[in-house]
Amino acid sequence: MRVYKFGGASVKDAEGIRNVYDVLQKTGYEDVLLIVSAMGKTTNALEVVIKNYFEQSSELQSSVQDVKNYHDQILLDLFSDPNHPVFEIIANHFTDLECFMEHNKSPNYNFVYDQIVSMGEIVSTTILSQFMSFMGIDTQWIDVRNFIKTDANYRDAEVDWELTQENISKNIKTNSLNITQGFLGSDENNFTTTLGREGSDYTAAIFAYCLNAESVTIWKDVPGVMNADPRYFENASLLNQISYREAIELAFYGASVIHPKTLQPLQKKEIPLYVKSFINPLLPGTSVAKGVDLEPFYPCFIVKREQLLISLSSIDFSFIMEENISEIFKLFHEYQIKVNLIQNSAISFSVCVEDKFSNFSELNSILSKKFKVDFNENVTLYTIRHFTEEAATTVEANKTVLLKQVSRETMQIIIQGT
Ligand code: ADP
Ligand code: ASP
Ligand code: MG
Repeated sequence: MRVYKFGGASVKDAEGIRNVYDVLQKTGYEDVLLIVSAMGKTTNALEVVIKNYFEQSSELQSSVQDVKNYHDQILLDLFSDPNHPVFEIIANHFTDLECFMEHNKSPNYNFVYDQIVSMGEIVSTTILSQFMSFMGIDTQWIDVRNFIKTDANYRDAEVDWELTQENISKNIKTNSLNITQGFLGSDENNFTTTLGREGSDYTAAIFAYCLNAESVTIWKDVPGVMNADPRYFENASLLNQISYREAIELAFYGASVIHPKTLQPLQKKEIPLYVKSFINPLLPGTSVAKGVDLEPFYPCFIVKREQLLISLSSIDFSFIMEENISEIFKLFHEYQIKVNLIQNSAISFSVCVEDKFSNFSELNSILSKKFKVDFNENVTLYTIRHFTEEAATTVEANKTVLLKQVSRETMQIIIQGT
């Protein structure tokens, strides 16, 4: 079996959906399982709905309407017959969403988030599978929540591999084109959970692992994995072949083309991952597999924006020792702040972090009781794998460097601003 993952960019409009059909025609869809994300920027739009819901904003209705209109437009473009059953199915999904918002009593933001945000994937896969059937492909729509079981850590749920393996081995039939949602799972009470933003790549890896798939292909708007994000580096070049280890490193440092959790399950079973262009599906793209580390061997640039550089120093000039460091890390973990770089000296300790959930000001008030806290907001973290002096110069030119750290294969540079 082959697992294909189509992300938001590939299904952002009707043309994108027709293109998925073309990709399947060109590459074949025998024994293929499709994992699909929400269309375009739907997840972001649903995050606005969730925020409006919690703030009891007068814009709640219009934000839901925006999501509906966007999908309606795609439906009207794909299905000329207004009596096609897909219109009613999608309308019912939105009614479910409204019912949930009306009746929900839970004040738990993360729980509510998952129940609402999941609508993006439910709707996108419904539209895609209805369209594939409409085009004559025998298609099976699968609710991934009956397969991927997780704990109840909403918004960042941990997979229960044993249960998930059991469900997938027992119940996936391969005689038609299976289409299911990325990013979602469910907990033991069957409430929807999500695997973390951009988690659909990971879903593809979970299915591939449990099905002993032949390969995973993630279809992108770029030719494959490049040595830098082509949005920011105009000379970015395609990498033909990357080892699992190198890909894990690149994803870990933030090369957003692959979700970092994706590689480990694939590496365990040596299932190759192909990253290919959905615009030119017959080009080879990038192959992540066992073998050569990086071909061609270029320095690779990874950029993380909107970071915080925090420096903690002891108030009384005492050393910052292991127990302080472990306490600080525990707090970061508790406040869901992700640490991307660490540097310490005798009496100070600096970290570059990502505060996705805006928890830093609360944490700062706790840290300030024990440490002197200095911080720079809005810094950018550049990571260069296999750095050269020339590569470092490219990053540093005309910038204010706040911190630089070099290890054997990796250079990290923090600059002020973007
Ligand atoms: P999806 O539609 O699957 O969610 P993403 O938008 O998450 O796709 O990922 C594709 C984007 O990743 C590209 O448009 C590109 O800008 C960005 N990207 C970041 N780093 C790289 C890289 N090293 N190589 C290729 N693309 C990259
Ligand atoms: N739709 C989800 C997101 O935008 C998951 C994904 O696309 O991978 O984060
Ligand atoms: Mg994505």
